[in-house]
Amino acid sequence: MYTVRIPKVIKFGENALGETEYPKNALVVTTVPPELSEKWLDKMGIQDYMLYDKVQPEPSIDDVKTLVSEFKPKNPSALIGLGGGSSMDVVKYSAEEFGVDKILIPTTFGTGAEMTTYCVLKFDGKKKLLREDRFLADMAVVDSYFMNGTPEQIIKNSVCDACAQATEGYDSKLGNDLTRTLCKQAFDILYDAIMNDKPENYPYGSMLSGMGFGNCSTTLGHALSYVFSNEGVPHGYSLSSCTTVAHKHNKSIFYDRFKEAMEKLGFDKLDLKADVSEAADVVMTDKGHLDPNPIPISKEDVIKCLEDIKSGNL
Ligand SMILES: [Zn+2]
Repeated sequence: MYTVRIPKVIKFGENALGETEYPKNALVVTTVPPELSEKWLDKMGIQDYMLYDKVQPEPSIDDVKTLVSEFKPKNPSALIGLGGGSSMDVVKYSAEEFGVDKILIPTTFGTGAEMTTYCVLKFDGKKKLLREDRFLADMAVVDSYFMNGTPEQIIKNSVCDACAQATEGYDSKLGNDLTRTLCKQAFDILYDAIMNDKPENYPYGSMLSGMGFGNCSTTLGHALSYVFSNEGVPHGYSLSSCTTVAHKHNKSIFYDRFKEAMEKLGFDKLDLKADVSEAADVVMTDKGHLDPNPIPISKEDVIKCLEDIKSGNL
C-alpha cells in the first residue's frame, strides 16, 4: 500500500491569489513589513482579517507560543501563512493549537513547502526538521504574482532547488508510481520553463515538485549539499553542482537534462574549504538522504562526487 498526502484544496494559476475566497476573521501571519503586506492583502481582496507580522526569519517555538498567547483569545476563523518558509512554518505548527484550518500562500517558490508535511522550527536555538501529518495545509494558494520584484539570483537558486527536489524525488526508493508521476511532470515543466524562458511557470512546477518529493524524499544530491551549506553556500546554488554529480553517479534518467538546465541558468563552480575526507564523513552520517538513494553509497563514492564538484567535472 502507498500513501500520498496533499492539501485538501489547491488554488493555482493566473489570478489564483485574487480569485480565492478567504474566510472572514482569519489571522494572517507574515514576516514582512506593512508596506509589502498591505500590497499583498489588497491583491488578495481579503476583508475582516487580523494581521500578525512579527514572525522572525528562521522562527523558533517561541514565535509559535507568542502567536498563540496573543491571538487565541481573539478566536480567528483560520490561519493564513503569507510569506516564505518562516511564516508558513509558524502557521503549520500553530494551527492545531487554534483548532482552525490553515491556508498557506507562498510568496517565494522553490521549496514546495506549501504542499508538504515538513516544518522547520528552532528549539533551544537549534533548527529541527519535523514531519507530521497535521502540518499539511487545508488550502494552498500558488500564484506567480509574487515573483515580480524577486531578485534574479534568488529565482535561480529557487528553481534549481525545485529541479533537484523533483529529480531526486523521482529516484528515491521511498517513492511510488504517483510520486514519480508528480516528480516527472514537475521537472518537465521546470525544464521547459528554464529552457524556453517561461519563469512564470516556476511556481507551478515547484508546487508539483513539493507534492512529489514531499511524499518520498530527496537523495544523494541533497546529502552532498549540506557540507556546502555549512560553509554558507545558498541551498539552491549548492544543488546546481551536487545534484548534477549525484545524477551522474546514480545514472539517473535526468542527468543530461538537469545539467543542461543548470548550464542555461548559469551557476559558478562550487568550492569546498573543508577537507574532502572529513566532509565525506559528514555526508555519510546523513542516512535520511542516503538510505533512499537508488544505489548504495560508500565513503569512496562521496569522495569521488565531492572531488568532481570541486574540479567542475560535472
Ligand atoms: Zn532542497
